[in-house]
Amino acid sequence: MHSLLDVNPERRFICHFPQDNAILSVGSGYGGNVLLSKKCLALRIGSYLARQQGWLAEHMLILGVESPEGKKHYVAAAFPSACGKTNFAMLIPPKHFAGWKVTTVGDDIAWMQIRDGRLWAVNPENGYFGVVPGTSCKSNPNAMKSIERDTLYTNVALTDNGDVWWEGKDGPPPKHAIDWRGNDWTPDSKEKAAHPNSRFATPMRNNPVLDSHVEDGHGVPISAIIFGGRRSDTMPLVFQAFNWEHGTYIGATMASETTAAATGAVGQVRRDPMAMLPFCGYNIGDYFRHWLETGKRLSNPPLIFHVNWFRKSSDGKFLWPGFGDNMRVLKWIIDRCEGRVGANESAIGHIPRMQDLDLDELSAVSPNQMHELLKVNAEEWMAEIAGHKKFFDSLGGVVPEELLKQRENLQARFVK
Ligand code: GDP
Ligand code: MN
Repeated sequence: MHSLLDVNPERRFICHFPQDNAILSVGSGYGGNVLLSKKCLALRIGSYLARQQGWLAEHMLILGVESPEGKKHYVAAAFPSACGKTNFAMLIPPKHFAGWKVTTVGDDIAWMQIRDGRLWAVNPENGYFGVVPGTSCKSNPNAMKSIERDTLYTNVALTDNGDVWWEGKDGPPPKHAIDWRGNDWTPDSKEKAAHPNSRFATPMRNNPVLDSHVEDGHGVPISAIIFGGRRSDTMPLVFQAFNWEHGTYIGATMASETTAAATGAVGQVRRDPMAMLPFCGYNIGDYFRHWLETGKRLSNPPLIFHVNWFRKSSDGKFLWPGFGDNMRVLKWIIDRCEGRVGANESAIGHIPRMQDLDLDELSAVSPNQMHELLKVNAEEWMAEIAGHKKFFDSLGGVVPEELLKQRENLQARFVK
């Protein structure tokens, strides 16, 4: 049940009652608090039900990757909000990956059950509710095609010929528009025409790369789970966990740096386990336990990885071009699932050697930059591990013993 009331922040209550399958949300106009079936139901109530019933409700995109030979894998990836889930789920591979196809099952939420010792995922949603500013044919052509028609927009600008507009859309800005607040707007205005968090809501059937198995009730089999966030240092482009328990530790300690769009200071590292901190419907320690127990029931568990598209050079520029080029990392992940490519064993996990990655036609990244991207800096990791400890301590003694042991092992691998 949702009511705007008078949108008074003093009387804003978003209440979940998992025992009763009920949500009461009053006093908010924010999408995540209004579309109750999304974060409130599919994640908060969903995660509670999932633990009771022995499955997983996760803040993850699901995508399919098909090789030129027709071999298909599915992967699920948990990135915190504004870290690239929608973009990754609709990735278009670089030109020389001819014959490779990436298809979308979901861009935000995965419900995963165990069947035949594997994890099978469904997307419980029927469409996409995405951030509009910055969406263009250059950044995400499949999203642009998805929102060409049958789409609801909120808090974007309205042009004189009845079209919608936002900062970062293709082409020049309109000479005049009505901004998201309803005021006249011109390119000289100081205010933004569209709110930075303005949204589209569009049915998934509009997505030109929608996966053909998206409606399969039993889900799609997951070969790999990927964690990630925005980290300007410390975290290499990609690494692989040694096993499920280590992967659970990587998920439990993952973090992202705050951006200008989020509240408060820019560039602060915030821990966000499995990207579920705002969405877990019960005690986070019990949630970690549930992950560990789920792993024990999987005879054929997905491999677990961590990625970082956002590492920066000392002059503050992104080292990795991201977007379509993330296919290069995805390919290594698939190759690892197939057992056909090598890696370096480092203290933090398996890291691709330069020769393990397809870097053809990647002039934007020099060998030096590639070296920076794959580097594990012991000094940075000492600070990182201290951050893990601080975070676990802040949770008040609920963290499972196995994960505390994982941290000791990680530390020990550096000292060795
Ligand atoms: P979501 O909220 O997790 O679905 O994230 P989005 O896919 O909407 O992307 C959030 C922001 O991250 C947008 O501004 C994207 O342009 C940006 N982004 C997405 N993928 C990448 C990438 O690979 N590299 C960089 N540098 N930025 C990205
Ligand atoms: Mn998204």
